[in-house]
Amino acid sequence: MNESGADVRLHGVARSWGATTALSGISLHVRAGSFCVLLGPSGCGKTTCLRIVAGLEQASAGVVEIGGRDVTALPPAQRGVAMVFQSYALFPHLTVAENIMFGLKARSVPKPDRLRRLDRAVEILGIGHLLARRPGQLSGGQQQRVALGRAIVAEAPVCLMDEPLSNLDAQLRAEMRREILALQRRLGITMLYVTHDQTEAMGMADQVVLLRDGRVEQDAPPADMYSRPATSFAASFIGTPPMNLLKLSHEGMVPGTGGPVLGPPRAAATLAGIRPEALRLSDHGIPAEVTHAEYLGADTVMVCSVGAEGRLLARLPGRVAIADGALVHFDFGPADLHLFDAATGHRIP
Ligand code: ATP
Repeated sequence: MNESGADVRLHGVARSWGATTALSGISLHVRAGSFCVLLGPSGCGKTTCLRIVAGLEQASAGVVEIGGRDVTALPPAQRGVAMVFQSYALFPHLTVAENIMFGLKARSVPKPDRLRRLDRAVEILGIGHLLARRPGQLSGGQQQRVALGRAIVAEAPVCLMDEPLSNLDAQLRAEMRREILALQRRLGITMLYVTHDQTEAMGMADQVVLLRDGRVEQDAPPADMYSRPATSFAASFIGTPPMNLLKLSHEGMVPGTGGPVLGPPRAAATLAGIRPEALRLSDHGIPAEVTHAEYLGADTVMVCSVGAEGRLLARLPGRVAIADGALVHFDFGPADLHLFDAATGHRIP
C-alpha cells in the first residue's frame, strides 16, 4: 500500500447474468484516503461491485476509474488495488511469511524489496512471532492479520475488503475493526469495505454507500444517514434496534390511538419514523401497551403495541422496571420525527 490513496470513481456500472441483474447503474466517488463502506442486505450486489473495482469481474456497462485513470479494461494486477477476502484465502502449505510475500513473488518483486515490505507489515501488525507458522496453527484473529499483511505488502493505493471480519467472534471483531481503521488511517490509503453489518459501517466509515437491489439507496456520511435517512429502507437499515415506522392515517395519527397528530394531513399514506432511542416515557404522547421489556445492562428495550396494529420499540437508558401489559405514553423531540411517503419510501422533507 502506498502512503497516499487514490480516488475511486464508478460511472453507471452495471452487471447482469442472464435474467439476474446484480447491479444497475452504480455511480459513486470515494475520495483518496477515505474509508467507504458498501452496505446492504444479502444479495444487493456489494460483492459484485467490489469485484468489478478489483477487476475480478467485468462490468456489463459503465466505467471504473482509479486515481483518475480508466481501469475498466485493465487486469487486476495493473489497477493498484489490494484485496482482503472473507475467507482470507491463505495457502495452508505455506508459512505466514511465504503467504504474506506470495503475491510479490508472483509479480517478480526483487527479494530485498520483498523482505523490506515484509518487515514493515510485520512491524505494523505485530506478528513477528508467527512468521514460521502455517495457517492451520493460527487463531482466527491471527489469520486475519496475515491476510491484512498481504494487503499491506502490496503497497497499493486502494484496498478492497469483502466482509473481512465475519469469521471472528464478536469481541475480536470489535478489536479488528479498530485495527483495520487505524491501519487505513496510518497508511493513508483509500478503503472500499463491504459489509452487511451496519455497526461496522457506523463505526468505520467516512462514507456509507447503502445498496438495495443493485442500486444506490443512499450515499452519505454515517452520521447523516443516521440523522437524515433518505428513505424508509435506509431508516430501517441503520440503528439498533432499527427505526420504528408507524403507518399514519390520512389525519396524520396512528390509527386506533386517538392521537396525537404526528404528521400533517395528507392524501397519500405516510410513515412516521422514530428511533427507539429517541423515545422517552412521559405522561403524554403516543399511547402504547408494553408487550415485553428486556434489560440489557446499559439500557432497556421495550417492545410495545400501538393502536390497532402498530408496533413500537423503545430503547431507554438504564433499568426500567415495568410490567408486561402496562399502559404508557412515549414522547420525543420534534427533530426526532422522520416522515416518509409509504408508497415510494422517500423522505418527506
Ligand atoms: P452477500 O452479502 O450475500 O454476499 P452481496 O450483496 O455481496 O450478497 P452479490 O454477491 O454481489 O451480493 O450478488 C448480487 C446478485 O448477483 C445476487 O442475486 C447473486 O445471486 C447474483 N450473482 C452474483 N454472482 C453471480 C454469478 N457468478 N452468476 C449469476 N448470478 C450471480
